[in-house]
Amino acid sequence: MNKGVLYIISGPSGTGKGTICAEIIDRRDIYLSVSTTSRNKRSGEIAGVTYNYTTPEEFRKMAEEGELLEWAVYNGNYYGTPRARIEQLLDEGKDVLLEIEPQGALKVKEKIPETVLIFVIPPSIEVLRSRLVSRGRETEEEINARIDAAKWEFMQAPKYNYIVENDDLAQCVSEVMSIMDNCTAKRKKVYKLLMSE
Ligand code: 5GP
Repeated sequence: MNKGVLYIISGPSGTGKGTICAEIIDRRDIYLSVSTTSRNKRSGEIAGVTYNYTTPEEFRKMAEEGELLEWAVYNGNYYGTPRARIEQLLDEGKDVLLEIEPQGALKVKEKIPETVLIFVIPPSIEVLRSRLVSRGRETEEEINARIDAAKWEFMQAPKYNYIVENDDLAQCVSEVMSIMDNCTAKRKKVYKLLMSE
């Protein structure tokens, strides 16, 4: 009964959700799930840490065999969340964090309604654009495509339990951590109430 809490953080490319997740796993006892993807490894990424990299064929096989809790296609590549480890950790009462895009997040919410969804927004489209430009990873055309994708993602944000703004990183991290502390503590309290009679 005393299950861990599953948290999902989403937000358009350039909102800083990866940095937020990294800060959180440094400070809290929470497991960050490693997704599987068919996209190519970028420089600086580590196989088995950033992602598990696989072929589209292998990915489809994993999906067909029910090994993924959810999966989605993003920018022409497959991304998915391996199921077994997450279910095991939640059953052991441990909290788990997924950093995934909204199609997948909403599928998880359907399967596991007690999932806590947190959506990160930038202060403005201009700030989002300038973060993408200064990252220097994409061409102008790719940046425009990411801004268009961001607009679709913003439309999903009201379906999330919480929306946080990443204007100041430290402040945003502390807001997310207090959401987590609150949810985890309140659920523990509910389980205690249930067990007390
Ligand atoms: P990137 O290729 O930039 O690492 O990730 C692209 C998008 O895929 C990001 O929005 C990221 O959050 C999302 N993503 C990463 N892993 C997963 C996953 O397992 N499932 C889903 N649905 N999205 C994911």
